[in-house]
Amino acid sequence: MPTQKPYRLPTTVTPERYELKLTPDLSTWTFAGEENVSIHVREPVREIVLNAAELEFRSVSLRLRNGTVLQGRAALDTEDEQATLSFGDALPPGNCELQLSFSGILNDKLHGFYRSTYKDAKGREKPLASTQFESTDARRAFPCWDEPAFKAVYQVTLVVDEKLTAISNARVVRETVLPGTGKKEVVFADSMKMSTYLVAFIVGEFEATDPVMVGQAPLRVWAVPGKKHLANFALDIGKASLEHFSRYYGIPYPGDKLDLIAIPDFASGAMENLGAITFRETALLVDAKKATRAELERVADVVSHENAHMWFGDLVTMRWWNGLWLNEAFATFMEMLAVDAWKPEWRRWDSFTVSRAAAMQVDGLKSTRPIEFPVERPEEAAGMFDVLTYEKGASVLRMLEQYLGAEAFRDGIRLYLRRHQYDNAETTDLWDALEDSTKQPVRALMDSWIFQAGYPMISVEKDGPAIRLTQQIFHYLANGSDQDRKWHAPIFLRACTKSGVVTRTILLSDKEQRVELADEVDWAVVNAGGHGFYRVRYGSDLIDVLKLELQNRLSAVERFGLVNDSWAATLAGLTSLIDYMGLIELLHDEGDINVWTTVIGSSHHMNRILDEDQCRSLEKRLRALLSPPAARLGWTAKEGESELDSQLRGDLIGTLGTVAEDKACQERAKELYAQYEKDPDTVDRNLIPALVAIVAHTGSSTEYEKFYGKFKTAQTPQEETRYLFALANFRVPKLIDRTLDLTINGEVRTQNSPYLMRGILLNKRARDRAWSFLKAHWDEMLRQYPDNSIPRMCEGVIGLVDPALEADVRRFFATHPVKQGAKQIEQHLERLRVAVACKERWRDWLGS
Ligand SMILES: [Zn+2]
Repeated sequence: MPTQKPYRLPTTVTPERYELKLTPDLSTWTFAGEENVSIHVREPVREIVLNAAELEFRSVSLRLRNGTVLQGRAALDTEDEQATLSFGDALPPGNCELQLSFSGILNDKLHGFYRSTYKDAKGREKPLASTQFESTDARRAFPCWDEPAFKAVYQVTLVVDEKLTAISNARVVRETVLPGTGKKEVVFADSMKMSTYLVAFIVGEFEATDPVMVGQAPLRVWAVPGKKHLANFALDIGKASLEHFSRYYGIPYPGDKLDLIAIPDFASGAMENLGAITFRETALLVDAKKATRAELERVADVVSHENAHMWFGDLVTMRWWNGLWLNEAFATFMEMLAVDAWKPEWRRWDSFTVSRAAAMQVDGLKSTRPIEFPVERPEEAAGMFDVLTYEKGASVLRMLEQYLGAEAFRDGIRLYLRRHQYDNAETTDLWDALEDSTKQPVRALMDSWIFQAGYPMISVEKDGPAIRLTQQIFHYLANGSDQDRKWHAPIFLRACTKSGVVTRTILLSDKEQRVELADEVDWAVVNAGGHGFYRVRYGSDLIDVLKLELQNRLSAVERFGLVNDSWAATLAGLTSLIDYMGLIELLHDEGDINVWTTVIGSSHHMNRILDEDQCRSLEKRLRALLSPPAARLGWTAKEGESELDSQLRGDLIGTLGTVAEDKACQERAKELYAQYEKDPDTVDRNLIPALVAIVAHTGSSTEYEKFYGKFKTAQTPQEETRYLFALANFRVPKLIDRTLDLTINGEVRTQNSPYLMRGILLNKRARDRAWSFLKAHWDEMLRQYPDNSIPRMCEGVIGLVDPALEADVRRFFATHPVKQGAKQIEQHLERLRVAVACKERWRDWLGS
């Protein structure tokens, strides 16, 4: 007998096809279930073990092939969420039918089979029920083999009130009214063979768009009544991305239909249930005429991401949760590819550089982790839904794609999907397929990025007619350990010598490497194109020459890299704050939104770290830095300008009016906001978030009441969250207290409250009150909020940049551990340490 972990299911009995009939009752928040599972008994067993949680078994029986029916009983293990079914005798090998009936609850924790409510046009509260099974919550809806490797076919039947809509993974085969009951029975077709975490059922009042066909499959967007008019943008990108992926993967969409469904209460962004993808409303429903470009991009991203999963994740699935990164990193990579093809003017791969930088920020901590690590208990996978899995994972895939060439990479992916479709795979299977297809040492290269935490800083020195590259692990906090670590780093080099500009791609595998060039080097760009997941530090002669002509010698993405690496070096104490300010003050001609995004991000970061008197100097320098580019763009949209320029206008003005405290800008913003209220169409829509942020930043109770009212009566999901989260930016103590109350008094959906709380912690004027409030109401928050949101809320502690607060934060988490996010909490604490260390180091910096 192999050693068996108690929480893992034995493989002696496997499911092949589930027939599942559920009858949810939306008035009592309960459901009844009947289940008939065709199983295969592989060797004689005395009992059948499967997963179940918060379910009550009503009956258990087994029909053998010869027609004999054995009555059984279920013993529940609440610790391991398992049910052991025994039937008296040993069961013979072969196929048989397991018949179960059971009941359960529609819970309010946004996982398993759960409840959601919304107000209709007349203000009446309406119920609906939805599912969220990843990672291990299918077992809360029906007894099942709830591990990704037990793939099976699902035939679902839902018995619901006659007036309600029922949706599941496959198309509806028939709907039959059950006379005299007020109910109907909705029977769905068989699903493809897939994992339990992808099963879905949604029941409520819903309206759909007309279907558009993608190959043989109808695609629809669903929303609660009154919101269908916000669905067209998602339908467009839904169709475009599905078609893109069918071509890219060389395999048609594997389901028989695809429904994209907006759910009013939803714990994450979206969930890739095959054929029935669920979303939070902001990620699917949008008014394409009124929303900002960033809000539209978010919908395009999430829809593409989920659609990419229909193949990568659903058709081919990780064998166990350690392989989660493969699902998520790949879907994130494909999301960029599809959105970039759909709207090239958004330059999606350029803005991906901001996501890459966010991953590098966490991955430069001692408390980071490798992308893939051993996962024992399934709940350990909960800590994997983070920036390292998604953004670092996607970044290293992009780096590999650029190194191998886009077509060679795609051919390897196609081979991988063909080999493992309707089955499970592991990371090593992907490298096998890519190596078979490209004949390149993909495994050695990628293992250094996937199984090893962190990334290197590449130092670049001029060395006669050559440059010398040295790699060393990057850390924000000085660290004696790990200095020997090495990566196989694809170096994309562009160098200018006397004989002209040359480009080279080199695989840096040793600690140090000399790259010979024909002539003496004038300047060089390492990480040309910005695809490398590493930082670059130039020797002083090289950086000085680059700085002479930043706009000519570096592309926008490369300028982003230079500024971002320099900011990281400043936080790490390798570069002085004065040098960093000197670098960004060279950006007077800069017109690229991503370069400004990193500058603006660092401004907020400095503002949180510096003392009040130091902030006055910072504000002055920021005004001098940001005013010229803001003036070039002006306050109104220009004929024919790009959408990115329009967004940049908002970003610059928003920063000038808040962290740079530009009084003239604040006055103009307030006037313009008043104009927007009277006549919305006269104001550039990409400017609205900036105006709202400035009005909140400078606002009193009059503005607060107005925004609160707008949150309550918003017409789109984007407007609702815009005004809700703006409430976190007011700076008057009594208004801060009101927003704090909102986080637990039931007025805000629990899907949003944790992020509102995070926002208040990050508000410098509110942080002391917010931290006290969090400590006082911690148990209440744990009870109300979805589990996955707790570590994300706690990210707000990075704003508590003060030695005494830091000590208090450490004491608090020592006695209040967050078990589903221990790693993330450790990372937040280290980010806070980095900031407090900077505060101490920068004590004498007063700028000038
Ligand atoms: Zn995903």
